[in-house]
Amino acid sequence: MRVVRVIDGELADCSGAPPAPQWALWQSEGMARLLTSAPYAGGIPTDRLVSFSSLQVPVTPTKIVCVGRNYAAHAKELGNDVPTEPLLFLKPPSALLDPGAAIVLPAASQRVEHEGELGIVIGARLKDASEAECRAGIFGITAGNDVTARDLQKKDVQFTRGKGFDTFCPVGPWIETECADLSSIIVETRVDGVVRQHGSTSNMIFAVPYLLSYISRIMTLEPGDLILTGTPEGVGPIVSGNVVEVSISGVGTLSNTVR
Ligand code: ZN
Repeated sequence: MRVVRVIDGELADCSGAPPAPQWALWQSEGMARLLTSAPYAGGIPTDRLVSFSSLQVPVTPTKIVCVGRNYAAHAKELGNDVPTEPLLFLKPPSALLDPGAAIVLPAASQRVEHEGELGIVIGARLKDASEAECRAGIFGITAGNDVTARDLQKKDVQFTRGKGFDTFCPVGPWIETECADLSSIIVETRVDGVVRQHGSTSNMIFAVPYLLSYISRIMTLEPGDLILTGTPEGVGPIVSGNVVEVSISGVGTLSNTVR
């Protein structure tokens, strides 16, 4: 099942403020079935089919928890040691970006890079949860791009500035609720069609259930929260005019432009 957020094409034609995105199930290209509310909050399908011209970012998290250096080869390419426990940081929800929309390069940075990542969407409240409880509490998976101003990340002690600019968190195109084996998902990033990153979650230092359990012992995970699980090796710069694609096996491809 593909869960999307769309703006009803008919409502969008009305004058005034743009209508809010609505939760829906993807039916076919340009067509979705509306849900009564967020699916992880009890939303159920309605009989209303709507047409849409573009997909909205399919998550509305209270927080975005990211994992740094979760693939050994990527830790090494940036000259870092392989961590002995997960390295966590947060991205602000204000950084979220719709599928197809443009990543905006900030004037403060001379080097902005892509980080294609598997995204986990939480479906239940998880506090001090076991790995089994966390596995059962996953709502679905998606593709994410942990866009990073590498020069600012290196300059600052905290990652907040380098990772937190508006548009630095493209996610989508949808949430796939039928997650296959989380330990063998392929994460691939292409820039203008050229493969930059190609990794498997089998090479993660800390597997997804362990990560979620670890995080849940620090902060309560709420339904809808998003976890970006780290990037494989091959990060590199993006410049204005590029098209960046992140493909997650079993989900699909998130595509964004850069300006
Ligand atoms: Zn990352």
